Amino acid sequence: MNDEKINGIEEDKSPVSFIEQFIIDDLKEGKNGGRIHTRFPPEPNGYLHIGHAKAICLDFGMAMKYGGKCNLRFDDTNPVREEVEYIDSIKEDIRWLGFDWEDREYYASDYFGKLYYFAEDLIKRGLAYVDDQPADVISSQKGTPSQPGTESPFRSRSVPESLDLFIRMNKGEFEEGSRVLRVKIDMASPNMQMRDPIIYRIIKAGHHRTGETWKVYPMYDFAHGQSDYFEGITHSLCTLEFEVHRPLYDWLIDQLKKDEYRPRQIEFNRLNLTFTMMSKRKLLELVQEEKVSGWDDPRLPTLCGLRRRGYTPESIRKFIDLIGYTKVEAINDVSLLEHAVRDDLNARTPRVFGVLNPLKVTITNYPEGKAENVTLINNPEDESMGSREIPFTREVYIEQDDFMENPPNKFFRLAPGAEVRLKGAYIVKCTGFNKDVNGTISEVFCTYDPSTRSGGSGSEKKVKGTVHWVSAEHAVDAEVRLYDRLFNHEDPSGQKDEDYRKFLNPDSLRILKGCKVEPSLAGARPLDKFQFQRLGYFCVDHDSTKDCLVFNRTVSLKDTWAKINK
Ligand code: ATP
Ligand code: MG
Repeated sequence: MNDEKINGIEEDKSPVSFIEQFIIDDLKEGKNGGRIHTRFPPEPNGYLHIGHAKAICLDFGMAMKYGGKCNLRFDDTNPVREEVEYIDSIKEDIRWLGFDWEDREYYASDYFGKLYYFAEDLIKRGLAYVDDQPADVISSQKGTPSQPGTESPFRSRSVPESLDLFIRMNKGEFEEGSRVLRVKIDMASPNMQMRDPIIYRIIKAGHHRTGETWKVYPMYDFAHGQSDYFEGITHSLCTLEFEVHRPLYDWLIDQLKKDEYRPRQIEFNRLNLTFTMMSKRKLLELVQEEKVSGWDDPRLPTLCGLRRRGYTPESIRKFIDLIGYTKVEAINDVSLLEHAVRDDLNARTPRVFGVLNPLKVTITNYPEGKAENVTLINNPEDESMGSREIPFTREVYIEQDDFMENPPNKFFRLAPGAEVRLKGAYIVKCTGFNKDVNGTISEVFCTYDPSTRSGGSGSEKKVKGTVHWVSAEHAVDAEVRLYDRLFNHEDPSGQKDEDYRKFLNPDSLRILKGCKVEPSLAGARPLDKFQFQRLGYFCVDHDSTKDCLVFNRTVSLKDTWAKINK
């Protein structure tokens, strides 16, 4: 039994999620002819966020792992809320994450005809009826989980009458909200979803794909499972809030199915992250109210925002792997996501020198006009990334906070009389400084020791501190955008009676102008990623111009935030 292959694929002996175990069991039992076929069903009413990535990794990941297929299906059943812009962005983001639906791009609206005929069929079988009551009356008759609902007076209306009304609803003869189609299940069911749920309503709006063809549109519950069935889906994986819908899902499939094949719905916990929120509706509000610069604002948890921020698809997939799939709702610590991206960028990004808050240092005994190249390793984690040369000159920039006039003990950077190594170049000693009219240090003077060049014969001389620098003459100008949490509350949208906007962090974006980066970055292109040594990981933004590069800080080198808040 143990050496058995599943669809020709060796069984994974490492622990698997409960969902994967269900899939393995179904495949071993030969259910649905031993097929696995999943789908990812986004509603095109917003951009994808990292929560969706969790669903995508599972839907596509399971199909890939077990030799099956995954469909992309747009759940476009509500013509009022959906836009083509969202469809394009969703496709781009799924591809970016590394998944492929091949030629299987479907739309729930592809099935409007089939769904309509299925609804008619249910009416003819006495399993559905047109209800003439308004929505608020219908919902007032629903009862409570402990009290049965009240049957609609229209529940016993004749089949021909319901059929006639449904056809006329779709011809546009009635106003929106005046009639609905309901399935006849059980108004006393302990499951509220089973109390004659509405399956069709009148909407008189054009649809982006079907135009004016339909005046009635199926509800999510009526479209979703049936679409799964029409596409031959075997495992319909969705989030926990649909667990209570499962009996209805199964009931509808029972009415539709013709043979042994049936799709199976399995629910898992949503991805929630601290200090942000996943609701598409609220993310749209932030965009519309210009609290952020757009759907791809690097502070948002959207996939396009994370991409712009410098996240890699690998880091997101790794994170999702780490948190796993369970049946328990939880909120994941965003530091774990940051840890995943740090880990990934550590391995893949070249190290460079960038000075965010420049302070000029003049090395008074270094010849004017001279420039010599020093060699620096691109990535100590990966020898194959090689090395580069950067110019060293009499005037360089260092970080302002790498110099202190009156340093405390153990300040191993530059101070009057102190020595540091300019990384990859020479040891310098501070001989003086100037202040401007405000008393701010404006320039520092040093001498260098020519025998201490890194890699040279005198380079064994030890100093406690090493700082990064760039040649003043050769530096490239840059703007750097530093991001912090968008919200200063762990769960901004989960606070009763408090608007999430109240928790927006006013310091979530800090823009630094006049930064200086090493000349090797001159040709950097949007989305190129680097480690600025000692500072963090940075990614070139598409706002960059030929005169000024713009960098987004993806993440700092260490998790300073966790410490401050302890
Ligand atoms: P809305 O915010 O409008 O309720 P939604 O977030 O459920 O919508 P959909 O487009 O319907 O968005 O989601 C597509 C798929 O992604 C669904 O299968 C849904 O279960 C899944 N999904 C959505 N949000 C999350 C999340 N936070 N974690 C995991 N899966 C999610
Ligand atoms: Mg949804």
